[in-house]
Amino acid sequence: MQTLKVELANRSYPIHIGRHLLSDASLILPHLKRKHVAIVTNTTVAPLYLDQLSSSLKAEGVTVIQIILPDGEAYKNSETLNIIYDALLQNRCERSTTLIALGGGVIGDLTGYAAATYLRGVPFIQVPTTLLSQVDSSVGGKTGINHPLGKNMIGAFYQPQLVLADIDTLQTLPPREFSAGVAEVIKYGLIRDADFFDWLETNMTSLMQLDEQVLSYAIYHSCQNKADVVAKDEHEQGERALLNLGHTFGHAIENAMGYGVWLHGEAVAAGTVMAADLSQRMGWLSDHDVTRIKSSFEGANLPIKPPSLGVEKYLDLMSLDKKVENGKIRLILQQGIGKSVITSDYDAEKLKETLAV
Ligand code: NAD
Ligand code: MG
Repeated sequence: MQTLKVELANRSYPIHIGRHLLSDASLILPHLKRKHVAIVTNTTVAPLYLDQLSSSLKAEGVTVIQIILPDGEAYKNSETLNIIYDALLQNRCERSTTLIALGGGVIGDLTGYAAATYLRGVPFIQVPTTLLSQVDSSVGGKTGINHPLGKNMIGAFYQPQLVLADIDTLQTLPPREFSAGVAEVIKYGLIRDADFFDWLETNMTSLMQLDEQVLSYAIYHSCQNKADVVAKDEHEQGERALLNLGHTFGHAIENAMGYGVWLHGEAVAAGTVMAADLSQRMGWLSDHDVTRIKSSFEGANLPIKPPSLGVEKYLDLMSLDKKVENGKIRLILQQGIGKSVITSDYDAEKLKETLAV
């Protein structure tokens, strides 16, 4: 098992990465105020992993309440949040009860927000079971739900006590979901860690085969990069926005194609290729580096060709997503591998060339 610490003063917490963590209650016990937990999960993850986690805790004398929600992004809303509050109230959960999120990013975001708001805040623990949630959503303290008028519009910054990333759970993850998580892994290399990107190029085949050592290394270094960014800019006033590389283009793709048609990671992959294309047109990135970026996504079975939506549609959707500065959308672009910048200092005509796919 490897451990890494997210440094946020009195809100610092450890991330444990390794195998067999779900059945090791000793990792959780020191973080409980009282031997009373509510595990929140969904109908897909419950039959796979709920029993393993519950029984290891019960064996240590912990009272376990189970809250099983329907599965899907469509349920990341206030109705589902109320199901959690109802169960907590019916079971007389107190401020000393710890909520445990067992599942992907949807469960993590919902449970984290429930924890931030129930009785004005109760402790919570993340047990992420998708690659995306292990490398991205469980780190950094963003929690929340969707509103009919926008994704992730209601939420809170709220840090967990602990993250347990058990890599064994990834064995049952559908390959497409695994690839979507790899898109965010590649992103960390591109924005700030050229050595990690080099390493990924060498090890992509083993990563896709879920090689234990390679997987642990990739998750550790992804979390480390995200934790470093978050430690410097917890509330996204500056540098944290770099984590959105490929996302402004990607959100336009997700939105235009209909949410869920392209997975988020797939749209981020194609979106990052668009950011690289514009960076290359600006003379900031070499042809060779653009090829390396495309090959890394292809190695993860991710799409590199964006859909042809037309320039105007792309511009419309992209300006919905991001603040406009001097009439131009601020973008995350590349000034080399491992070096991203937040800028509106690009040529608007060249952006149109990139969008004319
Ligand atoms: P998800 O939670 O929907 O999980 C994907 C699918 O895999 C679901 O059907 C889920 O039930 C299933 N699943 C989960 N673990 C499994 C396992 N081990 N084996 C088999 N199936 C499993 O999707 P996700 O990609 O994990 O997360 C996406 C969500 O995360 C979005 O709502 C997004 O907004 C959010 N997110 C949040 C942050 C943040 O900082 N808080 C960052 C990125 C994404
Ligand atoms: Mg993302």
